[in-house]
Amino acid sequence: MRKLIILSFLFLLSCAVVPMTGRKQFVAIPSSQMIALSAESYAQVLSEAQLSRNTDYTRSVREVGKRITAAVESYLEQNNLQSVTEGYAWQYNVLASEELNAWCMPGGQIAFYEGILPVCQDENGIAVVMGHEIAHAVAQHGNERMSQQLALQMGGIALSEALKTQNQETIDLAMLAFGVGAQVGVMLPYSRTHETEADELGLYFMAMAGYNPQSAPDFWKRMEARSSGRPPEFLSTHPDPTNRISNLERIMPKAMEYYNAR
Ligand SMILES: [Zn+2]
Repeated sequence: MRKLIILSFLFLLSCAVVPMTGRKQFVAIPSSQMIALSAESYAQVLSEAQLSRNTDYTRSVREVGKRITAAVESYLEQNNLQSVTEGYAWQYNVLASEELNAWCMPGGQIAFYEGILPVCQDENGIAVVMGHEIAHAVAQHGNERMSQQLALQMGGIALSEALKTQNQETIDLAMLAFGVGAQVGVMLPYSRTHETEADELGLYFMAMAGYNPQSAPDFWKRMEARSSGRPPEFLSTHPDPTNRISNLERIMPKAMEYYNAR
């Protein structure tokens, strides 16, 4: 009961609204904490992983990443929402791994794995993945997940204590919540709500940056074709890819408005 009261109190204090979709969410961790944890986790991943030697991959990923984050930040600014990404340190790296995967930490640190780039095919394909990953960060999905997990595991009171220390345990939990799997060995998939929301925002974001959103359904079809048998973790919350495609088609007119308004 006490836990319940603390949680409801926290919930009242910590309700936020996702830009563009308007979904209400529970984010209990201060943004500055998420940003610090992201920087620390990213440094750890980079120190353990190998960067790609493919300069074409790295150049394209950085180019697309910069274009999309610039477009997103200018949109947020125009709508008085610039605080959403305040303090984010956007970074774009390609890791030498055949995995079909990519992720973005809550503080804006992005990694693509070499394995996903042939599926992307070109900059439009990279923009589909990039938009989706940036959307997870803009919509604070990592904070939401970590808040839920910490609230469930420890109750509200321990939350601030756990975050104060930033020991390896906290960093591991953060990586799990951020969807950064390869180094930890386990990947907690984003919920379907988060995936669908990242698809939607990602489609708008790529369109705002001048990448044709109509390339998104084709990209996801290629991902699906590549993953027959065991689906990659990137797709694991989407057992039914036709849902994903029809969801994208439903919001395509709005994405095309952003695309054409440039
Ligand atoms: Zn995702």
